[in-house]
Amino acid sequence: MSALRFGPGILARHEALARFTQDEGRLTRTYLTAKHREAGETVMAWMREAGMEAGFDAMGNLVGRYAGATADAPVLMTGSHMDTVVDAGKYDGSFGILSPIACVADLHARGKRLPHAIEVVAFGDEEGVRFGATLLGSRAMAGRFDPKALEAKDKDGITLREAIRDFGGDPDAIPTLKRDPAKVAAFVETHIEQGPVLLDEGLAVGVVTAISGCTRVRARVTGVAGHAGTVPMPLRQDALAAAAEMTLAVETYCCARADRIVGTVGKLAVDGEGAINVIPGGVNFTVDVRSPDDAERRAAAEAIRADCEDIAESRGVALAWDAFFELQSAPCDPRLMTLMGECIARAGVKVRTLPSGAGHDAMEMARLVPAAMLFVRCGAGGVSHNPAETLDERDADIATAVLLDFLERFQPSGARR
Ligand SMILES: [Zn+2]
Repeated sequence: MSALRFGPGILARHEALARFTQDEGRLTRTYLTAKHREAGETVMAWMREAGMEAGFDAMGNLVGRYAGATADAPVLMTGSHMDTVVDAGKYDGSFGILSPIACVADLHARGKRLPHAIEVVAFGDEEGVRFGATLLGSRAMAGRFDPKALEAKDKDGITLREAIRDFGGDPDAIPTLKRDPAKVAAFVETHIEQGPVLLDEGLAVGVVTAISGCTRVRARVTGVAGHAGTVPMPLRQDALAAAAEMTLAVETYCCARADRIVGTVGKLAVDGEGAINVIPGGVNFTVDVRSPDDAERRAAAEAIRADCEDIAESRGVALAWDAFFELQSAPCDPRLMTLMGECIARAGVKVRTLPSGAGHDAMEMARLVPAAMLFVRCGAGGVSHNPAETLDERDADIATAVLLDFLERFQPSGARR
């Protein structure tokens, strides 16, 4: 017999939700598919059971609303995403929907209304698997949806515009989804950490300080291909050996600043897949640099580029460097972080702050209104985007109790009890 208030019920709902999958034998649920609708209808029923009005909006986000004490009460928004990556875990996104529904159900059971309304949003698309553009739902609510995205096609040639219509939505109404920051007091998201920090420190939850910004680079090293047996070592211009040294340069730079910067070479390919008896003539690789501090991230990207250029010069190879993507960081709101920390302390957990290296819907919402995030520990070494993702029912319980405390203690005016 468990004494836990929320954990077991929430974990059971994660199991139920994971059954809505478009792939046999694994969890894959992408935006605007039949399984998205079925999963959404199930969550909608849970929202209504918890005392909320609920429905899909014009682009397939599911929105549940628990009215405040007065009709004109400001809104405290919370939520996360319904969609998953291919062969996903059960908790990424879903926890940020199911934990607030459990909180609202608790308020409803007590007949309690707050000075603010609560809206729980199950965003349709965060992962970007189907149309290749991420954070579509939260971007629309933040008023940053780019209408050009409507022409993006999935692998079957269906455009986002068509998919929204087929789902019963209205692509032309997307601009109306933008929220009025005068009416929305804040946005708060609960999410599994997707990393090993809380696990490593034995903490159930943590407060997010900022969602890291990101610089992404496509690099190409061009050397000279040659026979593996005949070209003497000093005369080689080996593109792979150069790219390997550059990969280590990325690691060395970031390791020296490991508390603030992370950097990854995630793809590295020798032209034509290479051959065992050929000195590699060309290599393409990628660099991904992230930091909660934009100035540090930009400085890091420049310094890494300079290091790679030095390596190219000393090895007699050419380097092409295309920093093709940049995303600014989204700092969390200090007042909300303080309140979240107080709620964590009241739950008896040491208050640990940490940045989020992964992108989240809160990143877009933070561009519109003050935002906060609560991380909950994930097990199995912190693995995520993988069926091995785990969430302990005691951790789910603590995180939900902290969120409920936060929802109840939140003061829209800015004054705190
Ligand atoms: Zn997520």
